[in-house]
Amino acid sequence: MQTAIATVCLSGTLEEKLAAIAAARFTGVEIFENDLLSFNGTPADVRRMVGDLGLRIVTFQPFRDFEGMPEPQRSKVFSRAERKFDVMQELGCDLLLICSNVSEQSLGGVDRAAADFRELGERAAARGLRVAYEALAWGRHVSDYRDAWEVVRRAAHPAVGLVLDSFHVLVRNTDLGAMRAIPSDRIFLVQIADAPRLEMDYLSWSRHYRCFPGQGELAVDAFMEALQATGYDGLLSHEIFSDRFRAGSARSVAIDGQRSFLFLLDELRRRTATPVPGMPVLPARAVCHGIEFVEFAVDEPAAAKFEKLLEGLGFRKAGVHRTKAVTRWSQGDINVVVNTDKEGFAHAFQIVHGSAVCAIALRVDDAAAAVDRALSLLDRPFSQPVGPGELDIPAVRGLGGSLLYFVDRKSRLADIWAVDFEPVEHLACASAPLLTRYDHVSQSMHDEEMLTWLLFYTSLLEVKKTRVQDVVDPGGVVQSQVVATDDGSLRLVLNASQSQRTLASRFVSQVFGAGVQHIALATEDIFRTTAHMRAAGVDLLRIPENYYDDLEARTELSPEEISRLRESGILYDREGAAEYYQAYTNTLDNGFFFEIVERRGYAGFGAANAPIRLAAQARLAPATMPRI
Ligand code: MG
Ligand code: MG
Repeated sequence: MQTAIATVCLSGTLEEKLAAIAAARFTGVEIFENDLLSFNGTPADVRRMVGDLGLRIVTFQPFRDFEGMPEPQRSKVFSRAERKFDVMQELGCDLLLICSNVSEQSLGGVDRAAADFRELGERAAARGLRVAYEALAWGRHVSDYRDAWEVVRRAAHPAVGLVLDSFHVLVRNTDLGAMRAIPSDRIFLVQIADAPRLEMDYLSWSRHYRCFPGQGELAVDAFMEALQATGYDGLLSHEIFSDRFRAGSARSVAIDGQRSFLFLLDELRRRTATPVPGMPVLPARAVCHGIEFVEFAVDEPAAAKFEKLLEGLGFRKAGVHRTKAVTRWSQGDINVVVNTDKEGFAHAFQIVHGSAVCAIALRVDDAAAAVDRALSLLDRPFSQPVGPGELDIPAVRGLGGSLLYFVDRKSRLADIWAVDFEPVEHLACASAPLLTRYDHVSQSMHDEEMLTWLLFYTSLLEVKKTRVQDVVDPGGVVQSQVVATDDGSLRLVLNASQSQRTLASRFVSQVFGAGVQHIALATEDIFRTTAHMRAAGVDLLRIPENYYDDLEARTELSPEEISRLRESGILYDREGAAEYYQAYTNTLDNGFFFEIVERRGYAGFGAANAPIRLAAQARLAPATMPRI
């Protein structure tokens, strides 16, 4: 299968869009009329530019309000089509995409529309061109692909075919059964788009909220299976109208589009056990068993303060790197790496971003296969020189220029701590660790990057995404979406906000760029743990009194239980019989903080408490961050 993308998906000038499309390894491009109209050159110039980039123009679009017009509009619309045919011949493009008519003047009737298409097909064929008909979900008389197919079938002309667009089919929940019976040679183009499930009119939904498959919630998989049943092996083209894409980088969005196709078609191949012609076979998504370590790049003054905090949280220094200024801190199943070295990636990262998380290492079944898959998906590989005998941990670039490392148990990577680190001996410690494991990692990013990283994680790792949740910050609304393994061993919370005044946005734009804003660590006894932390001098976030008064009113908790929560500054949530307890450290100068959580059968993230936490943090925002 060949993949194409419409110019309307991307930001920038036509030249920038085409360069991004070629760089993302597409073979075809749909030229949107507006991109041509705003281009400072002739259609022949566009044709040359496209050819020089090794691309071909697969369609010119859109042609609107064509079929079923009464006279004199009918004659006018045919001469308008002839002018488009002239442009197409200059462009070197043989297919005109015609959307179903939305005009109030248009008349219904399948036979009338079919007759119009037959005549147009005749005119197109005379010039060696073709036309293809697409049912818009909001078309006046034709809004269903089955009706569009009936028009095409009755037009009975070899130059007249059908366009199937997954958005228009899926938003109306149209039955896919009839698609399977359409002869594949009558399908001239397939456009692919996903979208979140929203309650709004089809037109607004389509124009603003489309996204690539893997980023939304429509049944694109079922659409692809029905398409596969037809035997179709022609072009698949992304046609995405998205406010986020228009605000994003054309290069990055084009890569996301290709990644989306690679992921979509590889999943189709797996589900149906049928090869997809012309598409690479990818290693399976990496099965992830949690986080091996999180690495912080810090300068020396910050390191002293940060290591004191780690000690207060119950960590002990467990190892010192054999050749670098890097220490390992551990407790329970948690490893934290503190890197103050003056060489290498972490140092470069620290200079650009300040003290921050520069890498996350994931435990996977097969680290080499995980990187192979990442490279197949056009993720960016990373490696740097290592000392003699040291491990070269496979990695790809992640959010905000950070790294995602992969370790496994089947290679030398299993011995990472013994190979690269000199252990630090401690006297035997009788008490249980305060903290047992990584619970979740929360990453804040620019709003227009959110879908990029969502697709990055879901295409690479065996994880599922939750629905988007809106969280109210005193400075605006934050959109939050979780990707997690079924067993909860890895949970990543992605946050982004259009408002510049939310804590998430201020972290990103004014502190040090997209990255890990907080890490939640699990405990089995949050009261013991927070008491120990306070005694060790850790500043925990103060929660306003009113929160506890409200808790008393809306939960069954006894006054004794409430006062215990209040004294410890712990937030509480409940879902059925499941309970969740949360506490927070105060934010560090760089905006980062730790969260301590205790889950009693609870699967969420305490969304109900997030506004309380955000308001408490906003009151304490350091002077370096603008007050709201
Ligand atoms: Mg379309
Ligand atoms: Mg959290």
